[in-house]
Amino acid sequence: GRPARPRRELVSSRAPGNCCRHSASPRVRVLQWNVLAQALGEGKDGFVRCPPDALDWRERKYLILEEILTHRPDVVCLQEVDHYHDTFLPVLGSLGYRGSFLPKPRSPCLDVEPNNGPDGCALFYSRERFSPTATDHLRLSAMMLPTNQVAIVQSLRCRATGRGLCVAVTHLKARSGWERMRSAQGADLLRRLRAITSRAAASEADGAAEIPLLVCGDFNAEPSEDVYRRFLASSLGLDSAYRLLSADGLTEPPYTTWKIRPSGESRGTLDYIWYSRESLSVETLLDIPGEEQIGPDRLPSYHYPSDHLSLLCDVSFRELPHRLM
Ligand code: NDP
Ligand code: CA
Repeated sequence: GRPARPRRELVSSRAPGNCCRHSASPRVRVLQWNVLAQALGEGKDGFVRCPPDALDWRERKYLILEEILTHRPDVVCLQEVDHYHDTFLPVLGSLGYRGSFLPKPRSPCLDVEPNNGPDGCALFYSRERFSPTATDHLRLSAMMLPTNQVAIVQSLRCRATGRGLCVAVTHLKARSGWERMRSAQGADLLRRLRAITSRAAASEADGAAEIPLLVCGDFNAEPSEDVYRRFLASSLGLDSAYRLLSADGLTEPPYTTWKIRPSGESRGTLDYIWYSRESLSVETLLDIPGEEQIGPDRLPSYHYPSDHLSLLCDVSFRELPHRLM
């Protein structure tokens, strides 16, 4: 038999004051995950050390769904989804989620035979926790030109507290040599998030509330890249949740993806959960498995169904500053 799957633990964030703060607001659990498109995993990626049956969709889909359902996130943000209509929507839809899917305009999955249609981004949220206020499907631009990358922006209202929340999912252009394209796509996404959140704020009851934002994605960019700095410095006041797993609270994890292709081993920090630092606080994070847990053949494997690790955190709404009515 196969050895038991190593458990990933939920750990407290290193946010200042997190240990002694008792948050009154209910937490929002958010999951970010590039689940590896089935067509790309079998037909394009060349994961030479991954056992072929670990890539068999009939088995792999249960590992992906198990990981999602183990944690029961309130918001699920996925990239490389090429089984939305036949798997994710029917399963998650029957378990209390509402979803939306946006395929890439020209998905590389379509170059693989057989394929199950284009891959794209998918966003699910708990119908019990949230009511929808708007859904924006975006095709990202770079230098005024439309690109092959997309984003979904879902505006929500928390049923319990009445507070607004905006969640976005994206998957930026891959590969080295495309850093400027990623930076431009990131700038476009930030610009459009600014427009969407100010539209949403204008329709809030008090007319002036800041709408908290969560932006999840496979940015295909290390923290040293321009697009990362752009997000950190943006006027939206975003910070990256997984920095709060490190001892100094400022360092990203050493990797969020790790695989072996014919060209060699590739390990990198490419995936992020960005959150509004003024209006949300990160309470807990799902830890990153160590090298021994990942194993010598890296990802994907019988234990980890994608070449990317899932990221998961609990955030709570900060107290609203008192306002004159
Ligand atoms: P990207 O370059 O963004 O990459 C697409 C996928 O390939 C990603 O999911 C990425 O995964 C994965 N990937 C990254 N590195 C590698 C690698 N070394 N080996 C295998 N897969 C990798 O895709 P685009 O959206 O820009 O489309 C690229 C492809 O799509 C083209 O090569 C072409 O086949 C096709 N295309 C065709 C067009 C046409 O008009 N004919 C137009 C546009 C695209 P991850 O994010 O996990 O790294
Ligand atoms: Ca991929």
